[in-house]
Amino acid sequence: MAEAAATGRAPRFFQRLPKVELHAHLNGSISSATMKKLMAQKPHLRIGEEMVAIDKGAKRTLEECFQMFQFIHQMTSRPEDILMVTKDVIREFAADGVKYLELRSTPREEKSSGMTKRTYVEAVLEGIKQCQEEGLDIDVRFLVSVDRSKGAVAAKEIVKLAGDFLLSSDGVVLGLDLSGNPKVGHGQDFLEPLLEAKKAGLKLTLHLSEIPNQEDETRLLLGLCPDRIGHGTFLQTSELATQDLVDLVRRNRIPLELCLTSNLKAETVPSKAQHHFGFWYRLGHPVVLCTDDKGVFATELSREYQLVAETFQLSDEQIWALSSEAIDHVFACGHTKSKLKERWQTLKSVLLEELR
Ligand SMILES: [Zn+2]
Repeated sequence: MAEAAATGRAPRFFQRLPKVELHAHLNGSISSATMKKLMAQKPHLRIGEEMVAIDKGAKRTLEECFQMFQFIHQMTSRPEDILMVTKDVIREFAADGVKYLELRSTPREEKSSGMTKRTYVEAVLEGIKQCQEEGLDIDVRFLVSVDRSKGAVAAKEIVKLAGDFLLSSDGVVLGLDLSGNPKVGHGQDFLEPLLEAKKAGLKLTLHLSEIPNQEDETRLLLGLCPDRIGHGTFLQTSELATQDLVDLVRRNRIPLELCLTSNLKAETVPSKAQHHFGFWYRLGHPVVLCTDDKGVFATELSREYQLVAETFQLSDEQIWALSSEAIDHVFACGHTKSKLKERWQTLKSVLLEELR
């Protein structure tokens, strides 16, 4: 593969690059095309496109982003909505060259439609199954999310549900995610349910240090030895006093799921060049590029790879390594990892051939 830096490489290269997506929230990943279908079904809600997606070049505060999810949730209030968006989101990731996808979502109940947290998860799993039956070239798994803004009691209920599906979903449900508005609630409240989840055999990925001055919470949650970290935007920004957080993450080699466009549009990172990808990548620490909410932030995983390649002047070989090493951090078993590694090897020669 050419050693030249990837600047100027056609978007097609990044689209053809096989990729692993590990941080994708289902409702935030709904594309504008799917959103139009939902809007047509629910015109009485009067929800406009600008209320559920951030255009190119536009920005919103983190708080405003979380408000957008309130509107999106009104659009996905029935199990049939969840089934449709799951299938559309999976098809779109597959079309973008994603070969392995871990979707995540907080099970929601809606009195208006009779949807329960359990039927919510069942609808997602049905969507994954139908895509598999269609023969789409993508392996999809599911992580159950705990929304921190809903409190500890709700978290316990979600952990129990996730534990049930871990046992009954034939390897599709693999783990638990802690997410939601980082300004609401404290990590302390979730230690017990998260520990329960770990004991049940669920893998853990935690949104950590998304906003500044959360060192105490981050230290507490890192004590759980999570399997992956979402964002970790402010882990490395504080002074010597909190160098222990970076040391802890490094010592345990906890991979970071990094989402550039999301952080830029939600204004938690001032510029792409200042994104913490640079800090961790230079340390040789495991990082995985992800989209977070490809619908809300109007991006695709291939665009995230291109953005990183151009911003940090990565060679084709370095881009390939970034996508290939992501396989090491999937929550699926070793057998799946080996199969994915083999697949990557085959696809590497195909891509090389195309580049000639
Ligand atoms: Zn996220």
